Amino acid sequence: MIGNATTRTADFVILGAGVMGASIAFHLARRKAGSVAVLDKDHVGSGGSSRSSALVRMHYSFAPEVQLALVSLKMFQHWREVVGEAGARWEGHAGATRFYMELLGAIPDIHFDLQQIVIGPQGVCEEATVTGTQQGKWLSHPPTGTKVDFRVVIYFPWDQRLKKFTGERVFLWS
Ligand SMILES: Cc1cc2nc3c(=O)[nH]c(=O)nc-3n(C[C@H](O)[C@H](O)[C@H](O)COP(=O)(O)OP(=O)(O)OC[C@H]3O[C@@H](n4cnc5c(N)ncnc54)[C@H](O)[C@@H]3O)c2cc1C
Repeated sequence: MIGNATTRTADFVILGAGVMGASIAFHLARRKAGSVAVLDKDHVGSGGSSRSSALVRMHYSFAPEVQLALVSLKMFQHWREVVGEAGARWEGHAGATRFYMELLGAIPDIHFDLQQIVIGPQGVCEEATVTGTQQGKWLSHPPTGTKVDFRVVIYFPWDQRLKKFTGERVFLWS
């Protein structure tokens, strides 16, 4: 199911939530090209992407593939700068509270503008644009006193057995 409070349309609709679809969505969002929806007939990563050995190699015999691999290598080498800080964790209710207190403390006039919400058996995924004024340090970003404008995707995994959400994964990019 896809939609938000006002619309069920998107500027870009991507079929297939494998690494290709995810990458296209990422780059469109990064360029602020418009609203993006990724649809999958099954679930995220249900295709070959979940089975990959995750090897990165440069030796191919097909010239366009070599060029693609070389561009990819630059992205892998600068992964943090490209996709943002990864891996930071805030554990439990106390961690979640701390995360949001730090965020709200750093950007007191924060405004979440929900763009998309996707609900499925694996959980709920929300995409929003966030604006405000950064008055305090947040993550590794020093206080600038200037306007911030970034995108956030929040994924709430649903545990079908326990019948509850098991956490929240937050992905940010500007
Ligand atoms: C065992 C194995 C090991 C691998 N190891 C490596 C490796 O080490 N290094 C490497 O670079 N590559 C590796 N690969 C290859 C790599 O995993 C694939 O090239 C890559 O994941 C393909 O990504 P994709 O997004 O194109 O396809 P997929 O990951 O297959 O995603 C396609 C998605 O589209 C959905 N879909 C299909 N039809 C529709 C439809 N009509 N409507 C909506 N959704 C649809 C599917 O459900 C699926 O989720 C490996 C592959 C396998 C199988």
